[in-house]
Amino acid sequence: MFNIFELPLSYTITFIVMAFILGSVIGSFLNVVILRTPLKQSIVVNRSHCMTCGNQLKNIDLIPIFSYIFLGGKCRFCKSKISPRYWIVELTTAVMYTISICTLGVSIELLYAIVLIPVLIVASGIDIDHMQIPYTCSAIIAVLGIISIFTDGRPWHEHLLGAVVVGVPFAIFAMVGAMGGGDLHLMAAAGLLLGWRIIPAAAIGIVLGAIGGGITLLSVPKKLKAETKDAVEKIAVEWYENQKENGFTVAEGKSDVLFGNIFKGKCDISVECIDEKLWSGKPDVDALNEHINELAAKDFAISIVIEGDQIKSVNCKKQIVFGPYLSVGIAAGYLFGQQIIDWYLGLM
Ligand SMILES: [Zn+2]
Repeated sequence: MFNIFELPLSYTITFIVMAFILGSVIGSFLNVVILRTPLKQSIVVNRSHCMTCGNQLKNIDLIPIFSYIFLGGKCRFCKSKISPRYWIVELTTAVMYTISICTLGVSIELLYAIVLIPVLIVASGIDIDHMQIPYTCSAIIAVLGIISIFTDGRPWHEHLLGAVVVGVPFAIFAMVGAMGGGDLHLMAAAGLLLGWRIIPAAAIGIVLGAIGGGITLLSVPKKLKAETKDAVEKIAVEWYENQKENGFTVAEGKSDVLFGNIFKGKCDISVECIDEKLWSGKPDVDALNEHINELAAKDFAISIVIEGDQIKSVNCKKQIVFGPYLSVGIAAGYLFGQQIIDWYLGLM
């Protein structure tokens, strides 16, 4: 490995510019991956086109980072606004590649970063859009983790313990519903790669998540939340009356909770969340979903508590997407985790 700052200045600058350009090109590809893979569309065949007017983009419009600035964030043909997220993803990838080559030099660690950073960006983008972190993203990080056992000089048990020390608390967070299963497998995979560095990574991710999550919760108007809750409650009561007429009720003195998310105008309460032992037959959950869909409500997590023959309560809460915060923590932990650990141990 070598440090690019020990080279003559012109070489140092060349390496930095190359890292930035490579990052911006990969970033523009990541936009396609984030958009198309969850929809099972090809990421290769279709040429990029404007989302509003459908016109194919010209080559000059496909220069990462700069095209967006030249066009003032608008489509060349129909002048509709292009979401700044494309630009943000390109710039983030470029900046992260640049920081990586500056801190890691030209090394095997840099190769891992070249793969890790795009995977984290895709996981974050898909989490924001679909509230889900794809298994594939965590699997790629886990594979990097396993390979790194043979290359990074950290003992194998450190990699394993990295996955365990973060996996256990995140499994608890997932069980109490504070975080999702996606957050858990992402962090466990990252622990395998980072070893002890996962501790500062998780700390950074959780602190950022708490701040960002707090802001998200405060930004939801109380009125909107109350209205959604009332509307869902009304639908749930009517739905349960209907189910009772068909003979599907929760047994006297027992209670069951239905969980789901209203996301992008769709409600996804699943049949699996019904505890069949408590019910006299299988209620029609799809009908409940359909009625909630008609609300076209904002994104909320909902839970409906049914006790005996009545709806006991309905709760509505804003869902927080943690993937992006955890990803920032993982990237920071990968790049600077050892320095943070050394600094912290030095304090004691
Ligand atoms: Zn257009």
